[in-house]
Order: sequence, then structure tokens, then C-alpha cells
Amino acid sequence: MKPSWDVDLLVVGAGPAGVAAAVMASSLRMTCVVVEAEGVGAKLRAIGALENVPGGWSTGAALAEALAGDLARHQELGRVRVLSGRVVRVAGHDDHVEIGLEDGRLLTASAAVVATGVTALAPGDVPWIEAPEIRQLPPLWRVAAGDLAGRRVVVLGADRPLGTWLRTHAQDQVHLDVLFPQGDQYKTDEVAGDPRIRLDLVARVAVTPVPKGFRITAEHPGGGAHVFVVDAVLGNIGSKPAAMPGLVAGEDGYCPPDEQHPRIRVAGDVKGPRMQRIAVAMGDGSRAALEPYYWDQAALGGPFTSGR
Ligand SMILES: Cc1cc2nc3c(=O)[nH]c(=O)nc-3n(C[C@H](O)[C@H](O)[C@H](O)COP(=O)(O)OP(=O)(O)OC[C@H]3O[C@@H](n4cnc5c(N)ncnc54)[C@H](O)[C@@H]3O)c2cc1C
Repeated sequence: MKPSWDVDLLVVGAGPAGVAAAVMASSLRMTCVVVEAEGVGAKLRAIGALENVPGGWSTGAALAEALAGDLARHQELGRVRVLSGRVVRVAGHDDHVEIGLEDGRLLTASAAVVATGVTALAPGDVPWIEAPEIRQLPPLWRVAAGDLAGRRVVVLGADRPLGTWLRTHAQDQVHLDVLFPQGDQYKTDEVAGDPRIRLDLVARVAVTPVPKGFRITAEHPGGGAHVFVVDAVLGNIGSKPAAMPGLVAGEDGYCPPDEQHPRIRVAGDVKGPRMQRIAVAMGDGSRAALEPYYWDQAALGGPFTSGR
């Protein structure tokens, strides 16, 4: 099958890691196609308060806008192309890489950077939730506090975004019942003093859709169950790497950089569960574009100029 694009570098995902890779590649005069499923900086747009990204950024939305502007500038220079789509596989070969999109498009290049980050765990991914009729829950961190006012809301899981969300919406009057498993206990310290939440350690939770809401059956570790009905259920269970066929993944699903095909670099959150930060992702993405540039050109069939 003839590829839709054949360039120097393919970048999968336009979060901070993917954008950094594309900008670095373009600055080196490599031609580059970026494929993004949900929009440039999609995850950043829901981060209300930022304090650890150099450059004076105070919200994720502002940073996402700036990253989109960077890609647009490099598109105008004719060295970067951004495609909307979902990549479903990547394959490394002796002299090129290929990526396949959900819609059947095939792209090829000398090298690829996969920077797909992490995605929310679904109820079916964890043993403590029984919700056969619910494939995915709306993630807490994407919900505006205004949409929850006056509603009875259950949050499943006490993963770290709970603290970020409460700080972001510090002035909002909400009430959240947070049902969490033993494994999340250590994360509850930073939120325990907030009067807007009720923390409830559970052994198991069953969630069943009912007219106008959900029936919750919360079983406690010491025995006994509490049954109640709520207006909304939000997920805060944790995340899993957005890996894809063709990447080498460890037992935890993350993709160690050293184990990938030499023409496939991974960058950002998809690499591992630690160090998941914006600034780290940017450094990773830049490095992932520089590595193929500095490879032994004879061994890997460069030079990178305008496609192979
Ligand atoms: C609520 C919350 C608050 C946070 N607060 C902070 C903070 O204050 N400071 C900080 O440093 N970090 C924070 N983080 C973490 C930070 O957002 C991540 O570390 C960072 O976004 C990782 O960048 P990335 O490029 O690796 O992945 P992402 O930003 O997740 O980008 C990956 C991109 O790949 C796309 N994608 C995924 N799969 C595919 C596919 N198959 N095909 C095409 N595209 C695909 C996605 O749509 C996405 O746009 C926070 C995260 C959350 C959830």
C-alpha cells in the first residue's frame, strides 16, 4: 500500500512531548508529520493551575494554546504537518518505520516518536469496581465545578488529580463522596482537610444506572454495605499508558525507551509511571527527535533533509 506521507520523522501525539519533538525536528530541517487524536495539548487544557513549568505558565490552557501556536508556525514554514487521527499501530523495519491510522491511512518515515501519554483507567480495569453497564466514566479532572453544584456526586478513586481539582476549584461549593480502595489510602492526606469531600474507604463498589442517576452499593472492609442513589459518578481511578501494538511494553503496560526498535523513540508519560510532568515530557520529546538526527547516518540511511 502506498503511504499517504513519507517524511523524516513521524510524531504520534501532540501533548508537550510530541510538540517538543516536532519543533526540535523542524528546527533541524527534518520534515515531520504529527498525528493527534483529540487536539493539540488536549490534556493540558483541563489543568487549572500550573506552578512547575518554566516560562511563567500559570494555566494548562495557556500553555496548550502556545504549543498549538508553535506547531502552526512550523506548519507555515512547511516542515511540519499536523494530521487529525488515531494511530493504531507502529512498526519498525531495517530502513524505515510505518504507522497505521484507525481510518486505514499508512504513514512512513525514517524514525518515529511515540508520545501518547496516559489514558484514564476504566471501571473494568480495576477489581474493586463492578459496573458492567458502564464502559468509561467521565474523568473528574475534566469536569467544571459549576456543573456539579447542587448535585449529589460520587467520585470513584482518590488518585492525585483529586487534590489538583479541589485546589483549582477552591472557591466552588460542591460536595463529593469519594469512594476509594485501600491502595489509594496514602494519597488521601493532601485532601483530607477539605470540608467539601467525604472520604470513604471501600472494599468494593457496584454502580448501576437507574432513571436519572446511579445506584451505588459500597461494601466496607469490615463488612456491611451502604446503598444510595446519586446524580452523577465521576472517575478518578488512575491512568494507564496509551501504548499501541508495535511498542514493547513491560508488565505494567509502560514502554521502556531502551527496549523499543531503534527507529522508534518513546517520550513523555508513556515511558513510565514516575516523572509524569510537563517539563519532563518536553525534554523527553526534544531528545527523542535529536536522537535519530545524531544517529550514525551511514548505519541508519540518513541524511535527514526532505524525506528519504
Ligand atoms: C489533572 C491533571 C493535572 C496535572 N497537573 C500537572 C502539573 O501541574 N504539572 C505538571 O508538570 N504535570 C501535570 N500533569 C501531568 C501532565 O499533564 C503530563 O505529565 C503531560 O501532559 C505528559 O505529556 P505527554 O506529551 O507525555 O502526554 P499527553 O499530554 O497526555 O499527550 C499525549 C497526546 O497523545 C494523544 N494520543 C494518545 N493516543 C493517541 C493515538 N493512538 N493516536 C494519536 N494521538 C494519540 C492524546 O490525545 C494527547 O493529546 C497533570 C495531569 C493531570 C491529569
